[in-house]
Amino acid sequence: MKRLLLADGSHELLLALQKTEEAKKYDISTATNAAECLDKLTKDQPDLLLVDLFLPGMHGIEILKKIRSSTRFDQMGVILSSSEAMSQNYYAALKAGANYFLTKPFPPSFFFSTVEKFFAGTLHPESFASGGSSLIEGEHCYLPKRYHPNEYIKFWGTRGSNPVSGPEYVRYGGNTACLEIRHGKDLVIIDAGTGIHPLGNSLLESDINTIHLVISHTHWDHLTGFPFFNPIYHRDKTIYIYAPVGYERTTHELFTDMLAYAFFPVRLDDIQAKIIFCDLRDSETITVGNIAISAHYAHHPGSTLCFKIHAGDKKVGYATDNEVLMGYHGAPNAITKDDPRLEPHQPLIAFFQDCDILIHEAQYTPIEYQTKVGWGHSSISNAAVLVKHTGVKDWIVTHHDPTHTDVDLYNKIHLHYDIMQECGIQCQVRMAFDGMTLSL
Ligand SMILES: [Zn+2]
Ligand SMILES: [Zn+2]
Repeated sequence: MKRLLLADGSHELLLALQKTEEAKKYDISTATNAAECLDKLTKDQPDLLLVDLFLPGMHGIEILKKIRSSTRFDQMGVILSSSEAMSQNYYAALKAGANYFLTKPFPPSFFFSTVEKFFAGTLHPESFASGGSSLIEGEHCYLPKRYHPNEYIKFWGTRGSNPVSGPEYVRYGGNTACLEIRHGKDLVIIDAGTGIHPLGNSLLESDINTIHLVISHTHWDHLTGFPFFNPIYHRDKTIYIYAPVGYERTTHELFTDMLAYAFFPVRLDDIQAKIIFCDLRDSETITVGNIAISAHYAHHPGSTLCFKIHAGDKKVGYATDNEVLMGYHGAPNAITKDDPRLEPHQPLIAFFQDCDILIHEAQYTPIEYQTKVGWGHSSISNAAVLVKHTGVKDWIVTHHDPTHTDVDLYNKIHLHYDIMQECGIQCQVRMAFDGMTLSL
């Protein structure tokens, strides 16, 4: 009777092999670890060893090498087994002198037919590919279920003031302000900075024909992408444009001027899409299906609004241009809740108080802000005061200064962390980048 030694860490496997009918033809001993296996190799002198690659205590190939380097075991057959069906393991085992490589799981009957072939002198290793492919045959690739694939907020432009490009801007991007809010087929866009150009191209593949474009204010960085917004050249599109009531000219007049032949080859009147201009005022709310956008004054030169987006079950504040605590250069912690200097900002603080996320600019470092007072943008420390008093737990910083490279913004986020820590503000801070998407 031929002697088999079965060495494997799995008791279940050893039992399954031993209780088959075929097992009765052999004198079988077992080992569940390396020490036991080496001991029984010497004592029992088996004719054939089945050893797992990951035998507890010693790798199967190390045991194989020990066997092949000793003349005592000249005639012994060795079958390596493993559930790690990797070509490197397979060829290493054969190179070290294994007679066969058995990929787990295998039925006991297959093992014993392999053993029979070995003793008949007809066992030859198969090529790796044929053995490996059977492993995945009939299985499918797991695809996670998407719960809200079409409900998101996406930043298409996170730069303020002026678009930038070049190798030093690849991380955060260079397009100016543009935010897409999607809830199924409902679409609202805030601002038409240069980011609206790629957004428009992406919309051509969709069947959305009604687009609501909200303009926070008519500074160039929020408007200059409009002539390149592809849907305006399609007859089947209707575009509602909401903008704050301007100090000097109506939004319609401003768009007519912007699209004059002196500036652009297509006039407003030549645009194919149906354009409808609407005024938007402080405290008003636009509702588009499941999206509601509420407006609030921002502290910025000219007539400027910031927003609260309510979509799905989330509320998101959005202020790209808002100078908090104008002219204040002191420590943020010195501004307490009832400090008179905070008084002009209390209505906005109340407006943002119930937001899950607050997207708010912090364009300048405290040092840079010393020479930028009245430009309409906040220092990191002054913006942190506003965030602190809203109590929001997630702050996303956008409207990056055009002079700030990727490295500058990387350093700036650490400055944010330091300021937040100093003020004891428990709030996550992230830097927005072109393409950043938040699920709703
Ligand atoms: Zn701006
Ligand atoms: Zn502005």
